[in-house]
Amino acid sequence: MTYQAPAELVDALRGANKILCVSHINADGDAYGSLLGLMWMLRVVGKQVTPAMPDPVIQEFEFLPGAGEIIPPQAVGAIYDLIVCLDMSSQDRMGAVFDPVRHAGIPLAVIDHHVTNTRFGSVNWVEANCAATCQMLTVLADALDIPIDRQIAVCLLTGIVTDTLCFRTSNTTPDVLEAAMRLQRAGAELPAIVQRTLNRLPFNTLRLWAPVLARVQLREGVVWAGATNAELNAAGHEDDDLRLNSVLSSVNEADMSAVFTEKVNDNGEPVVECSFRAKPGFNVGDLAFRLGGGGHAPASGCTVPGTLDQVIEQVIPMMIEERRRQLDAMS
Ligand code: 5GP
Ligand code: MN
Repeated sequence: MTYQAPAELVDALRGANKILCVSHINADGDAYGSLLGLMWMLRVVGKQVTPAMPDPVIQEFEFLPGAGEIIPPQAVGAIYDLIVCLDMSSQDRMGAVFDPVRHAGIPLAVIDHHVTNTRFGSVNWVEANCAATCQMLTVLADALDIPIDRQIAVCLLTGIVTDTLCFRTSNTTPDVLEAAMRLQRAGAELPAIVQRTLNRLPFNTLRLWAPVLARVQLREGVVWAGATNAELNAAGHEDDDLRLNSVLSSVNEADMSAVFTEKVNDNGEPVVECSFRAKPGFNVGDLAFRLGGGGHAPASGCTVPGTLDQVIEQVIPMMIEERRRQLDAMS
């Protein structure tokens, strides 16, 4: 399979000078990698690029070249030729970085690999079969005749490594391995990236696993666990990622898994971030989309209003029902 960046996207990038690059709330390695990778790429061809994110940079990704340049929503200006939205399936994922009034009339270019993408841009390039937005950017580099230097390579390989859990997910095709090989040849060090991202577990997070896993449940091929906001605060860890997705999604008896983290929104109300995973052949993307989120068939997420218990009570029956329906469709 060869991927191709659409001509309208290439033209939009070539024609713009002042470009705002944005990635999503609760950013992951692909969000950081694609944001900074594209920034370095466009700077090679002389563009004036500003990288912005709705949330502060988390410690895990401070090692990426250019991470210190990422600006928060309040520092984002009003005048850009183009806004490039990376690794996000819907406009709301830009959080406060994008202001529909201030930024009215600025074209949006969407570069993403989520199957649930709503095509909210003026130009949309969505490759649902790509394992990472960073994989798409290796294709875009060729379309723009940009040579991939070491800093670009480090950013892009980080996104590929984190989104594929180091080449273990079902979308790890030969194209993914070829892209990774090319980035490694360009100077990115695979073992160092793995060490800084996937091989990382804050001790406080590990300790939080004890009460959370004591409540883990398995019903009809669905396994789930969750942390309350009080538990997260008491643990005082560096980010709110429980890092339990891979553990739960490996459970033999389960086809689907869910990790729930209770937070408090800007209005002081409880909300629960839901993170879903499905074994090959199953799909949690539609479920997340119906709940107002999005993602891919094997990995998706959403944020649902309510306390931990309320949201679990609402979402788990939906997952069980969804799994039953998918099993029926298979037989
Ligand atoms: P994770 O569970 O690792 O946070 O996310 C899994 C996938 O679902 C990622 O591709 C992520 O971008 C997507 N995702 C997670 N939460 C949300 C959400 O609230 N809205 C949307 N649109 N996508 C989400
Ligand atoms: Mn991604």
